[in-house]
Parts: sequence; structure tokens; C-alpha cells
Amino acid sequence: MIDFNRPPVLGTEMEFFKNALESGKLCGDGPFTKQASEWFKNRFDVKHCYLTTSCTSALEMASWLCDLEEGDEVIMPSYTFVSTADAFVLRGAKIVFVDIDPKTMNIDPDKIEDAVTDRTRVICPVHYAGVACDMDAILSIARKHGLKVVEDAAQGVNAYYKGKALGTIGDFGCYSFHETKNYSMGEGGALLFNDDSYQDKAEIVREKGTDRSKFFRGQIDKYSWVGYGSSYLPSELNVAYMCAQLEQFDVINERRLEIWNYYNETLRPLAEAGLIEQPYVPDYATHNAHMYYIKAKDLEARTGLIRYLREQGVLSVFHYIPLHSSKAGVKFGRFHGEDIYTTRESERLMRLPLFYNLTDAEMEHVSRSILNYPGWT
Ligand SMILES: *Cc1c(COP(=O)(O)O)cnc(C)c1O
Repeated sequence: MIDFNRPPVLGTEMEFFKNALESGKLCGDGPFTKQASEWFKNRFDVKHCYLTTSCTSALEMASWLCDLEEGDEVIMPSYTFVSTADAFVLRGAKIVFVDIDPKTMNIDPDKIEDAVTDRTRVICPVHYAGVACDMDAILSIARKHGLKVVEDAAQGVNAYYKGKALGTIGDFGCYSFHETKNYSMGEGGALLFNDDSYQDKAEIVREKGTDRSKFFRGQIDKYSWVGYGSSYLPSELNVAYMCAQLEQFDVINERRLEIWNYYNETLRPLAEAGLIEQPYVPDYATHNAHMYYIKAKDLEARTGLIRYLREQGVLSVFHYIPLHSSKAGVKFGRFHGEDIYTTRESERLMRLPLFYNLTDAEMEHVSRSILNYPGWT
């Protein structure tokens, strides 16, 4: 069976785990966490980077730093993972969903402004599949209405908008290092931002509501409870696992792109015959091969193809159930405007196996199986 995902294995991990164990410090903000956060700051040219236990926690931190009040509104696509919305709902916000652009599956910037009310505080674009949202358009609406922009860049690590790293463009950026993402800590994430004025509050929220980060830097002689907070520091063992990948950062990206390009080339005849649709990458976006998806004609066609692939030993998956149609989405949000594409496109999309350790033989088998699907005729 060809799995849909396997976490990356470089072969150097044991050395990193051994170093972590021998350091005598496995709790948060040890040497590996320092090394990894410095690495991201340099690589992506961003002033602050805090590793967290997940992208969900990074989104929760961002949401807290946005200073929301009960009933404030946050605009986002409905076609996304639950955490994008949940992080803001936890702060009492109301979610306002708008439709996506079917070409990229990203929020349609032309539909955002109409959804802005006097309660709107935040726009939360999601860079789906590591393909950048139209950030100039989004930032200009945000500026005009005094809104913050929180980028859900869970899938966008090492992807770019006009040369700028995703997650470093809005007020806050949130990364995921879940095992299904390009770079992994098993479970993990990061919060990024450039504005120094958020630093104190971010550190307090991340450190259980204490000013312990200042204490460790020697800026104060004892630490205490100073405000709201939670526990968002990842263990050094998890970060050590990811540090093995940071050494091979570009190698991982190149391999993913190779697989992505292979699927894209070999499946093109099906797209040309009008049987499937392939991903679209706008000129302003440099993607990171986070995901390779195709779109079948409709739900029925997708179900048939996924079933056939499973018989061929290939695991293909779909997502998301649009948030506005889910139980919590109905309770905590509303869809602004008409759902023209969100539901329709979400029922057509399916993802193919794409991970660093996928072999050539496996990727060829996936592609061949799709091309040979008897359902095409
Ligand atoms: C994976 C993902 C998340 C959640 O990431 P975790 O690290 O698992 O919390 C949030 N948003 C999007 C768009 C994702 O793909």
C-alpha cells in the first residue's frame, strides 16, 4: 500500500535525538529550539519566530495578540482546516466565511471587502497547498479598514509571494510542523511576526502567563504570573527531529517539487481531455509542493476514482468539509455572500501521495493507476 503520507526520515535523526538526551534538557526553549527559531528568522527574513506545539497553538497566540472582544469578526475562507476558525472562536470572535477562487482554492480577495462590517478586526488568509494568496489585494483592504492580517501559512513553509516568505507578510504568520506538512516535528508549529511591540505579550502568552522569557534573558531577577497565558513550548526532542530536516531543507523541497512536477506532467493528458483539473499557480506565487491535488468532475467521479486507487494500493484523500456547513461553523460563524465554489470544489478535490520519502517506483505507480482508470471511458 502506498500511504498518503509518511513523516520525513533523513537518516540523521538518531544523532540529533542523542544530542538532545545528552544535553540534559528536554523541556522547551533549549538549544535545539533556539537553533531552529534563529534558523527560520534568518532564512525567511523575519524578526520574531516562536516555535509552538502546533499551528493551532500559533493561531491561538496570534488570535490572542489581536486583542479581540466578544462579537468581533474575523474573515476567512470556509475551505480550510478547523483550527483556522477555532483559534478565533476561543477568543469570542464570530467567523465570517467568504467564497474561494476556484483556480487556487484560496480566499477570493474580491469578495472580502463586501464582508467587512464595523465589527471586523482580522482577515485570516489561508495559503492553500502552499500557493500564496493575493497578499497585495488583502493587505490593501486590511489597511483601508484598519484590520490585522493573520496568515494561516500551515502549508506555506518555504513558499513565497513575490519573493517574500509566506507567514512573514501579514501582522502574524502561523506555520505547522505536523507530520503531514513539508517540515515536521511530529506535532509542532511556529508563530512569526515583525513588529517588536508584540514581543513581550507573545512571550507571556507562550510561557503560561509569566514573564519567564525575560527572566531567562537576565532582564529581570525573578519571574511571576503577569497575565493570560497557556503552554505552547514544544519539547526539545520534537525540535531535534526537525533540526535533522533543517540541514536538508532544500533537498526536501527539491524532492517534493520533483514529485509534484512528475504528477503534473504525466497527468496533463487527462486535463487536456477535460477529465480532470490540475492545480493552478499564479505568477506571484512560488509554491513549495506541499500538496498535489486533482479535481474530478464531481463528487461521484471522485468517489469512484478514490475507490479504484485504493484497489490499486494507492491511498488518496480528500478534505475539507466546508466549515460553514459543519455543526460548529453554523454556531460560530456565517457565510457572507453566495457559496458558489467552496462546496462544489471541495467535493471534487482529491490529494495524491506526496512526501519526501516517496520512491520513484511509488510515484510512477500512482500516476499510472490514475491514467489506467477504467472509469475515464
Ligand atoms: C495543518 C493545518 C493546520 C493545523 O496545524 P497543526 O499543526 O496540526 O495544528 C491549520 N491550518 C491549516 C490550513 C492546515 O493545513
